[in-house]
Amino acid sequence: MVNIRKNLVSQSIINTVTSGTGNGRKWITIHETDNENTTANADAHGRLQAGGNSRSASWHYTVDEKEAVQSFNHNIKCWAAGDGSGNGNANSIHIEICVNKDGNYKKAVENAAALAKKIMEAENIPLDRVVQHNHWSGKNCPSKIRSGKAGVTWAGFKDILKEVTTVSKPENPSTSNNYYTSNPGKIKVIKTCWQYKGTNFVEGNRVQKVAAGPIEYTVKKIEHTKAGTPRLLMKNGTYMTTNKKYVKKA
Ligand SMILES: [Zn+2]
Repeated sequence: MVNIRKNLVSQSIINTVTSGTGNGRKWITIHETDNENTTANADAHGRLQAGGNSRSASWHYTVDEKEAVQSFNHNIKCWAAGDGSGNGNANSIHIEICVNKDGNYKKAVENAAALAKKIMEAENIPLDRVVQHNHWSGKNCPSKIRSGKAGVTWAGFKDILKEVTTVSKPENPSTSNNYYTSNPGKIKVIKTCWQYKGTNFVEGNRVQKVAAGPIEYTVKKIEHTKAGTPRLLMKNGTYMTTNKKYVKKA
């Protein structure tokens, strides 16, 4: 998981380079800084924004291989999309990925994906609403991802997003093929199992038995035990197994 550090700008800067509060937080937009100069990392971009960017521009996060620096809270309507008062500026959270030549670009992209996933979960934003800056204005941004020449493509970025989880411990790789590791949406039970009140599947945590049958159950998201075993967090607040012997995608 990427380390997030806040370096929030002052109110006077919010007044100068944003449209203020009221961001609808329905989208996440991915950018690249296009600044390959050495030391043009997340910290430097965070300081640039906190010091009062001379350009009429603003964005929520800058990410490099080391960390994500947050400059604005999510409720601020930043000027990053180039679409005026459209959804890009008014209803999106913006992430800039650093491309400084003394940084590790691929690791920065991975960190950006981890950050995007965290925001998706915090703000309930679906994967198809994670878009490129290009989506809003036609600008060639994020340019490296769009060209794919640096070894990361947009499809690849989205694939990372699907895999990122909120815990750092990976599941046991020897059993991973037997488990859902991406959100299955709805499931059916194919072998009687239990719903639990926590990720720890001990007898004392059992809520109710669920029999095999045609009923579809809605999955909210996948969480993990401390040991890294994935669990389905259900819409009703209980936890179920992700084991494909017991449940299947509906
Ligand atoms: Zn951009």
